[in-house]
Amino acid sequence: MEGALTARDKVGVQDFVLLDAYTSESAFVDNLRKRFSENLIYTYIGTLLVSMNPYQELGIYTMSQMELYQGVNFFELPPHVYAIADNAYRMMCSELNNHFILISGESGAGKTEASKKILQYFAVTCPMTESLQIARDRLLLSNPVLEAFGNAKTPRNDNSSRFGKYMDIQFDFQGIPVGGHIIGYLIEKSRVVYQNQGERNFHIFYQLLAGGEAERLAYLGLERDPQLYKYLSQGHCAKESSLNDKNDWKTVSNAFSVIDFTEADLENLFGIIASVLHLGNVCFQEDDQGCAAVPDTHEIKWIAKLLGIYPSVLLEALTHRKIEAKTEEVICPLTLELSVYARDAMAKAIYGRTFTWLVNKINSSLVNKDFTKKTVIGLLDIYGFEVFDKNGYLFVLLKDEECIRPGPATDLSFLEKLEEKVGKHAHFQTRKLAGPKGRKRIGWMEFRLFHYAGEVTYCTKGFLEKNNDLLYRHLKEVLCCCKNGILRECFLVAELESRKRPPTVGTQFKNSLSSLLEILISKEPSYIRCIKPNERKEPSKFDDFLVRHQIKYLGLMEHLRVRRAGFAYRRKYEHFLQRYKSLCPDTWPHWHGPPGEGVERLIKYIGYKPEEYKLGKTKIFIRFPRTLFATEDAFEFS
Ligand code: ADP
Ligand code: MG
Repeated sequence: MEGALTARDKVGVQDFVLLDAYTSESAFVDNLRKRFSENLIYTYIGTLLVSMNPYQELGIYTMSQMELYQGVNFFELPPHVYAIADNAYRMMCSELNNHFILISGESGAGKTEASKKILQYFAVTCPMTESLQIARDRLLLSNPVLEAFGNAKTPRNDNSSRFGKYMDIQFDFQGIPVGGHIIGYLIEKSRVVYQNQGERNFHIFYQLLAGGEAERLAYLGLERDPQLYKYLSQGHCAKESSLNDKNDWKTVSNAFSVIDFTEADLENLFGIIASVLHLGNVCFQEDDQGCAAVPDTHEIKWIAKLLGIYPSVLLEALTHRKIEAKTEEVICPLTLELSVYARDAMAKAIYGRTFTWLVNKINSSLVNKDFTKKTVIGLLDIYGFEVFDKNGYLFVLLKDEECIRPGPATDLSFLEKLEEKVGKHAHFQTRKLAGPKGRKRIGWMEFRLFHYAGEVTYCTKGFLEKNNDLLYRHLKEVLCCCKNGILRECFLVAELESRKRPPTVGTQFKNSLSSLLEILISKEPSYIRCIKPNERKEPSKFDDFLVRHQIKYLGLMEHLRVRRAGFAYRRKYEHFLQRYKSLCPDTWPHWHGPPGEGVERLIKYIGYKPEEYKLGKTKIFIRFPRTLFATEDAFEFS
């Protein structure tokens, strides 16, 4: 037994439920730290996976590891993201129901990497037919494309996702992945026109400049040097050594061809990307009347060419607005400030809608109409909240099971539920904190959000700007009439005719979250909670304070308590027997009777007390972890 203690002292326990001092946060942190220092980044709380970001390649995602985890019971192997994936997959196959895996944690904690590992696991381990390989490849390659357009470097994460992502992987009745569907949530459009110190714009801009073919750049009127573009250089880190934009361009280009993008699509798409860069370099000056004018129309001409608009029309739309008087339209010049605002609004709008177009385009290539009966595993990777002084970015915390799964009995809206759950939370923000009056039309007060990552004083002004994506009607008219094929799909004339005000970012968010909730309610959940070990993206550095903080915000102690209160373990008779049969002469080396009976003999022999367990139809339920703990010890050192 001494050996057992030493081993446990060194590497900790692989399931927090097995901790003796399970209510102590310090014991929790100690266990994480021990394991982390041994490069054991995964630990369970029952069936929930806690994952520490190692910030180094650990060699735990190899083919042989993938093979190892196939069809194996949770407890039989060290905790792993593959075990979570495999478990969801097996349950889906045997019960023919839908599942989802919720991956949460703050920015840089490893959510996106975890979701990619899961996707790869399915791509490699699931059965496959030749004709479905293309579906699998498209599913895999949707990642680099969406990351190019939706991820950016921040101080926290060189590849930070700036949109929320929900992805369904669809399987046929044999468990073959046959298709998929992606939903993108709220791309951070403000990044297109402004970046804080140490941040970059979305990767695609830099990738295009670094890797794009010379003829393509010439056609788009672009230079290689990102410093020449205002929208790319405000964070003063356009050239980031840790990122290889040139190589990534190759990956993305290849992905485009596999996902069925035509040359015309690409021409339109990069016409838009280039137009955004040209827009950022449009400079305004004040004329004698205090109105905005564009002294150098070089950029305007490029945009006009690439988007298929008349330069004069674009110029007017950027420097004037239309006001509808009783019977006629009046055209008023804009001030310099408002022209800058209009320019940025246009850049944000075309980027944001192009991103939506991109997701739709990818989805249409992932559709597989040959299979009507499908089951799915959904992956939810929602970006975290980032802590800086000037950050107006908010994050909705899908705090725990109850919050996200209000249950069939209640038809409360998501927001009401959220308010009820966390209304008293110290970090909960309401309209009372809204700030300056007079910008009500933005409507951001309509929904309630609260901070995720701790003590942050956020800048209300920044927040308003981040959420302000009203686009002047005049500019919209121009975009509705342009010749660029993608923008024509994104800006429909019908929108101009509608008198209804477009939904604000706030309502969009609210709507998308309640529909997400609906998607999730009908599925079986698995959970992965990601933790960032330090703020410096360094391997082997474990910052106690930071980790404690995340344990709190991820609600891990509460989860552990809930787990401990019930029957912490439930295991199929066969699996239990298979693992521990050597502990009892009746079951060793083989038990030929019904597995339930074998288990009963076994536990009687090793002395389980009646209050410690219950025998179900197919499973044994064990109440106290120490019971299983002792059995496991006996097994390991038998
Ligand atoms: P999040 O999506 O939570 O913001 P990411 O998944 O993008 O965080 O992870 C940030 C970075 O941390 C990655 O780019 C990678 O360098 C590193 N990382 C995350 N998870 C792992 C892992 N399992 N193994 C190795 N490195 C990782
Ligand atoms: Mg991410």
